[in-house]
Amino acid sequence: GLTEKLAAAFKKLRGKGRLSEADVKEAMREIRLALLEADVSYKVVKQFIAQVTEKAVGADVLEALSPAQMIVKIVNQELTELMGGTSAKLTIAPKPPTVVMMVGLQGAGKTTNGAKLAGMMKKQGKRPLLAACDVYRPAAIKQLEVVGEQLDVPVFQMGQIDPVDIAKAAVAHAEKHGNDMVFLDTAGRLHVDEALMDELKAIKAAVDPTEILLVVDAMIGQDAVNAAKAFDDALDINGVMLTKLDGDARGGAALSIKAVTGKPIKFVGTGEKLDQIEVFHPDRMASRILGMGDMLSLIEKAEQSFDEKKAMELQEKLRKNKFTLTDFYEQMAQLKKMGSLSDIIGMIPGIKASDVEGVGVDDGMLRQMEAIILSMTPYERENPNVLNSNRKKRIAAGSGTQVVDVNRLLKQFDMLQTMTKQFSGGKMPRNMRKMMK
Ligand code: GDP
Ligand code: MG
Repeated sequence: GLTEKLAAAFKKLRGKGRLSEADVKEAMREIRLALLEADVSYKVVKQFIAQVTEKAVGADVLEALSPAQMIVKIVNQELTELMGGTSAKLTIAPKPPTVVMMVGLQGAGKTTNGAKLAGMMKKQGKRPLLAACDVYRPAAIKQLEVVGEQLDVPVFQMGQIDPVDIAKAAVAHAEKHGNDMVFLDTAGRLHVDEALMDELKAIKAAVDPTEILLVVDAMIGQDAVNAAKAFDDALDINGVMLTKLDGDARGGAALSIKAVTGKPIKFVGTGEKLDQIEVFHPDRMASRILGMGDMLSLIEKAEQSFDEKKAMELQEKLRKNKFTLTDFYEQMAQLKKMGSLSDIIGMIPGIKASDVEGVGVDDGMLRQMEAIILSMTPYERENPNVLNSNRKKRIAAGSGTQVVDVNRLLKQFDMLQTMTKQFSGGKMPRNMRKMMK
């Protein structure tokens, strides 16, 4: 699969201090093949490779401490961009109800995922209504009623009459009954055909939906991209819901859909159960496609414990001064899991091994820290400045330590906070070593 291919491509970069242009070229060749094999469209691959190459052969990469890691980063960033960069939200109509029309091929998952979405919105305080506009099989209406009941979302149906009439009546029903969202479950076909598109166009014209969400089965690869193009050409869709990402669906479809249609993937379905729906995050998908887990075995120990995203969140918190003792503890625990920090240094751009040499977090110290932090109230953890001597005594007693231990921990925490200024542009604190002594 793509993950293995890419892992193999990156393995070749392992152990090299610097990357030559030839190295980058070789890696790109492998990536190209891997992406093509994952069913990414040729045009998209070509464009992607060109972009990544341009960035990777730059001086920054060649001079960086871990060039391989930089390439991973660039490939990851570019994949994220390719899929739209950031998460796209469902549009909400200024005047309710918001009408969401679920369209797609037969078996793509319209009925299930329309219901999942309705359930998700219900949890967010909306009052959704599901409408049965797939009228060709009585079983389709029944299926919608069953899932509606499971989610306790009302289902509007009028039997097997003209779906355009049902759609209109459903919106009117919603207006009358205070449903602020209507999800239209429409019919699909095994292949894109004119009759299907005509029916969907008629529904669109009749109810002017806020969103047309195309439901696409991630398992069908390039066919999904072709379907997305056909549906978009006919209906001018607003977004895509990619289903069945729980299987071993290849990433190809996710990569190409945005590039080919210009429409973002908004949600993903990750299982048959009705709560198995997630907002689509391009960065996470990129990591999945790249199999970051595998690639980070470039530095094996770090693979299990270093979570780049978490580090970014941490930096963000530090910058905003929202870094709490709870975060402090989590970071210490994470460092401990890594064992020797110098082992993972290659992963962190902008930091030299000599800055952190020999750093290890002592077990006993960590256990003591945990005890102290856990003996604080949640309020104290978020607001350590309230810790007067009475509180410190209580915490020391509760954690089986001394007030001096509590003070030491607070001092370490303080130091970390003052290092906030040193956190810039993806850098880890330089004097982490001092902090931990
Ligand atoms: P429709 O014909 O487009 O309405 O598709 P359905 O909603 O009936 O779904 C077709 C099949 O796909 C059903 O068996 C669903 O349970 C299954 N399905 C839908 N979404 C997912 C998903 O995200 N993961 C998995 N594994 N199965 C799904
Ligand atoms: Mg259906």
